[in-house]
Amino acid sequence: MARNLDPKCRQCRREGEKLFLKGEKCFTDKCAIERRSYAPGQHGQKSGARLSDYGVHLRAKQKIRRTYGVLEGQFRRTFFEADRRKGQTGENLLQLLESRLDSVAYRMGFGASRAESRQIVRHNGVLVNGKRVNIPSYIVKAGDVVQLTDRSRLSLRCKAALAAAEARGFPEWIAVDIKEGKGTFKAMPQRSELPATLNEGLVIELYSK
Ligand code: SF4
Repeated sequence: MARNLDPKCRQCRREGEKLFLKGEKCFTDKCAIERRSYAPGQHGQKSGARLSDYGVHLRAKQKIRRTYGVLEGQFRRTFFEADRRKGQTGENLLQLLESRLDSVAYRMGFGASRAESRQIVRHNGVLVNGKRVNIPSYIVKAGDVVQLTDRSRLSLRCKAALAAAEARGFPEWIAVDIKEGKGTFKAMPQRSELPATLNEGLVIELYSK
């Protein structure tokens, strides 16, 4: 399976904001954005470098793609599926990304980051409605119950991630039973519940060019 092996903090620095790709470190002052909030590379500190129109659109797309840890081909396919569905393409796109199994597992606090949650899914650590599903891109539907297997639930890694997620609070569109390591995907999130810093409108313009 293809994976994005680019250093995670570098990806945040390129986008100029925290994308929360590294779990607990992202909430500490060890976060690279807290220390060096300029783009990586030799020319990263150059001020006044203006982006072209294409550059602005590209950065908007990359920010969303990197936030959800999706490779280009899969992101494009998700976009076309969002466009095919009823409703607004931009909102559909974010909803589809949020309903990926790795993303739902992350929101439920099963892993400290989306990457860690994806690994738990890949390693058969998650059940959907009681059945084992090990495909990170599996789309979870409203009402589906997602839970950790007993082995994963008892692992220190999942326990720590669940405790940290509980301390930060869960999003509105999911309900989680910490003790059982189990959650319900109540409904697709509304656009207003998702980060305002994501600009899906620019992605639509980019792919319409
Ligand atoms: Fe991004 Fe987290 Fe690294 Fe900070 S610690 S730069 S939020 S991946």
